[in-house]
Amino acid sequence: MNVLVVNSGSSTLKFQVIATDLERIGEDKDDRICRGEVEGIGGEAIIRIRYRSYPSRTLTAPLRDISATLEYLLRYIASDQSGVPEIRSTADVNAVGHRVVHGGEMFKESTLIDDRVLKGIEDCIDLAPLHNPTNIKGIQAARELLGKDVPQVAVFDTSFHHSLPEQAYLYAVPYHLYRRHRIRRYGFHGTSHRYVAFRYRATRGLPREQTNIITLHLGNGCSAAAIKGGFPVDTSMGMTPLEGLVMGTRSGDVDPAVVSIIARKEGLSASDIDMLLNTQSGLLGISGLTNDMRELQAELQEHDDRRVRLAIEIFCYRARKYIGAYLAAMGGADAVVFTGGIGENSPDVRARICTGMEWAGLQLDAAKNQETVGREGRISTDDSKLLAYAIPTDEELLIARDTVRVILGVPHPS
Ligand code: AMP
Repeated sequence: MNVLVVNSGSSTLKFQVIATDLERIGEDKDDRICRGEVEGIGGEAIIRIRYRSYPSRTLTAPLRDISATLEYLLRYIASDQSGVPEIRSTADVNAVGHRVVHGGEMFKESTLIDDRVLKGIEDCIDLAPLHNPTNIKGIQAARELLGKDVPQVAVFDTSFHHSLPEQAYLYAVPYHLYRRHRIRRYGFHGTSHRYVAFRYRATRGLPREQTNIITLHLGNGCSAAAIKGGFPVDTSMGMTPLEGLVMGTRSGDVDPAVVSIIARKEGLSASDIDMLLNTQSGLLGISGLTNDMRELQAELQEHDDRRVRLAIEIFCYRARKYIGAYLAAMGGADAVVFTGGIGENSPDVRARICTGMEWAGLQLDAAKNQETVGREGRISTDDSKLLAYAIPTDEELLIARDTVRVILGVPHPS
């Protein structure tokens, strides 16, 4: 089955075409045909597309919205110019898997999309006003372009966290707010946490029930999950993806009272502050320079800038604090797993986070940590009681696999 995986943001769209079926999933032999991303949707967009391991091509086109973008992509991939022989026409796309950010309390697993499900995703717009509308547009556009007979599946960022117990998902605010407005922790990055938990237990040959780990997704957005018996019992992102760890431009945890204090002192509205905490805070806000960890590390090396150092230190300290909290929440864990652009590629950040964790039995192997960049591997010493791993995430692969399983009615094992 050729599955088109669509991950649409407000002005960007990431996509992959992955050929997979139950046999290939079982043998871990899914075939990635092509992948790419589109930036600048709404204006003159830049399209990068890569067929297998050939060099990627860059194209530009005026693309007014998601619908125009998908139409362009499908037409291009199916054309002779693209050099993708597996897709000769849109009829060669057998299914579409969509990343959907918020599934609220309704969607506990990946779901075949019909009108009722689409309405359910619309009902969650309140919870993710920036993301769900774009995801819906992506679904509608794919339906129009490929026809209703091509099955589409929604894979939710929130659904893996449905196992959270009440003590972890309820906030200590008046309970009627939960009843009336579903104010609670939902958690995000679920597909990523689920994928690396699956890889961890595959690598160690463990059954799901013995998967007791803390996963740290450290990318532009960052979140931690406490996974006990294979399912999350806590996670750091909350009602929205703002809570928890320090991120590229997001503050993570702050005292909620600072919102009204900033409003008063700076004369800002609630939505101004929302914006401030989401887009001008985190690594960018502290350093005053950039949200990009790689650039911050280069700057620190070259100029030893105080605020750059602070940004990196606060980022790592917060992550370490969450590891400690989750060890307590879970009654101990077997491993800490790093993923995401920073978690996969920065031995320095991993080392800073794990510094002083010897009390918990966590001992990084300096050489292994240094050489495990962009690939899977154990980075703790042989006798470390709490293990540490770096595992590259692969949300698109999980979306393609879920799409196949949901269409065939096979419950997902991961
Ligand atoms: P993601 O959102 O998962 O794509 O991750 C993006 C973040 O990963 C950015 O802050 C990048 O600077 C960071 N990143 C990627 N490669 C490296 C690297 N080699 N060292 C440090 N940070 C990196």
